[in-house]
Amino acid sequence: MNQPSDDLLAFIPDPWAAIMAASSDGIILLDIEDRVTMANPAAAHMLGDGMVGIPISRILPPAALGPDGVTQIRLGATDFIIRRSPLGGQGALLMIQINPHASVDQLRARHEQKLHNLLMTISSALDTPTILERVAQLAMELVGANASSIPLYDAARGLFSDGWIINMPPDIGIVAPLTRSVGLVWDLVDTQTSIIANNYQSEPRAIPSLVHAGVSAVIAVPIAGIDRTLFGVLAVYQIGRDRGFTRHDLDQLAVIGRQTGIAIQNARLYEEALREADRRHLLYAASIEIGAALDPENLYQAIHRAASRLMSCDSFSIALYEEERKEIAHVYIADHQGRWPSLRVDLGHGLLGHVIRYGVSLRLVNSEPEIDSIFGAQRLHADADMTRSILATVMHTGEQTIGAITVQAHGPNAYASKDLDVLETLASTAAIAVQNARLFARIQEMATIDALTQIPNRRHFFDVATHEIERTDRYKRPVSLIIFDIDNFKAVNDTYGHLAGDAVLSDIAMRCRKDLRDIDIVARFGGEEFVGLLPETTYEGAILVAQRLRERISSCPIESDAGPISITISIGVDSYDDVFAGSLKDLIDRADQALYVAKNSGRNQVVGFRSLVFGRTGSSQANAKVRNL
Ligand code: GH3
Ligand code: MG
Ligand code: MG
Repeated sequence: MNQPSDDLLAFIPDPWAAIMAASSDGIILLDIEDRVTMANPAAAHMLGDGMVGIPISRILPPAALGPDGVTQIRLGATDFIIRRSPLGGQGALLMIQINPHASVDQLRARHEQKLHNLLMTISSALDTPTILERVAQLAMELVGANASSIPLYDAARGLFSDGWIINMPPDIGIVAPLTRSVGLVWDLVDTQTSIIANNYQSEPRAIPSLVHAGVSAVIAVPIAGIDRTLFGVLAVYQIGRDRGFTRHDLDQLAVIGRQTGIAIQNARLYEEALREADRRHLLYAASIEIGAALDPENLYQAIHRAASRLMSCDSFSIALYEEERKEIAHVYIADHQGRWPSLRVDLGHGLLGHVIRYGVSLRLVNSEPEIDSIFGAQRLHADADMTRSILATVMHTGEQTIGAITVQAHGPNAYASKDLDVLETLASTAAIAVQNARLFARIQEMATIDALTQIPNRRHFFDVATHEIERTDRYKRPVSLIIFDIDNFKAVNDTYGHLAGDAVLSDIAMRCRKDLRDIDIVARFGGEEFVGLLPETTYEGAILVAQRLRERISSCPIESDAGPISITISIGVDSYDDVFAGSLKDLIDRADQALYVAKNSGRNQVVGFRSLVFGRTGSSQANAKVRNL
């Protein structure tokens, strides 16, 4: 019970105070300025604690504040009778009774049904808009208000953003103050206590647009989660009518506010779970797409596409770690404007260099120029904005570091820690895919390179040499071909063993590579037979090259575990030119015929095809043109 002021205590005899305390009617004593000096428990129950010292005009609607006598008002859903009696020039006494003519039981039954409906509604809805819509409607009906609103609070930005309104004039907007200088609701935001104002028009901090709309009374209760995170405010209004709310209304709405808070929290968790499921599906689809890409370029694009679908992605980069060179190759850099040139930096340089070096993930929510400078961040191009939000993570498969990826967004706070989890998952899928692509490239290489001699195999020779012959034909340039076979190689195997034979083959391949030019295409043609295509080389030039090669091989035995092995080779030569053209196969055939002659003429010698056709020198200059023998 509130303490009466000293003069009134002197005026009211003690027994009277005891009766007041025990009365089930609300009794309020007012001083001569109509401020509350004392309120008994029943009054406090109806209108709330803490009335003492407050003008009664801020507690009851104007209709209840008429001259002495009896007034009938409705507060919330309840009818009251208020009797005002003068206290002999010392103030006045208000006696507040529930109207005995209104059927209290009936009212209560209706009330409880509404409350039940409301709580059922709140707990059965799973999406926030449905919850807000229903709560706003039912809360309004529950307390006999004629308008309601649920402005939502954005705790990160400290302001009200969006929400739900019912029966408010359309120009009101979200019914929440935009700045802290107006609005009673900021007390609620700060302390999460409910607010009741039964004479809104005279509240000093009333929102002007609400005053203008004719709001006379307001209840506002917090909608908060279990952890007291404020999601928003449930507010009900009396507009354009002289009717207030009771303490009971406030208590009920406070319960509904709490219940709504829990429902919103559940809805958000549910929405989060849905988003998570959605993301999982996207990640799964992405991993299939990424896993299927074997060509590096397609693979990088697939990783980029996946990242863009999963999170904000204003720019995106992939860097690969090259262990042998201790370098980072930025193989893919892209933003909304497209691709940017690749670049190469030392390990530990730049954002991804750090990430790879220390094997860490990074999440920056509001990168500043100082942080940018630590990583040596640079604009991709002149009109690119610096990114404020950054996620970066390393790509690794178990022990092996493959590289790193980063997604970045222009705005701050674009990534939650969940996003980093998703990027890490994507990065591990990407790491395996990059490794697969490398293995694939290796297998492709194996299909073109002879495993023993490490020079191109027959198939690859045909691919490359066909191109070269086409080019030669287009530009009318000379090209020659030599084909050679090791003499009596079977005997080498028989004498020194197959392994020594292998060593001889490798050595011969290496000598050819060393002896011929880089532009010459040397390949293992099969068994102990090799072929070389010599671009920009005439028939006469090719004969000289062949003779030099034959001499070098025959004059220098090959070292092996079984001792030095002397080797000789027989070589056939021809060219593709004005004299003889045809296909690559024709050229090989001609050289092979010459090789056959070299073998049959005692081995360890060079035979040019033209010597077989034109005589000893094989010179084509003076002879008739013969094509396609
Ligand atoms: P010729 O002077 O007429 O060419 O006599 P040759 O003994 O070199 O010819 P032949 O075709 O009779 O024998 C080729 C031998 O080359 C038989 C085969 O075992 C051996 N050979 C083919 N490929 C390899 C290989 O990869 N490693 C080893 N060690 N030997 C091989
Ligand atoms: Mg041979
Ligand atoms: Mg042979």
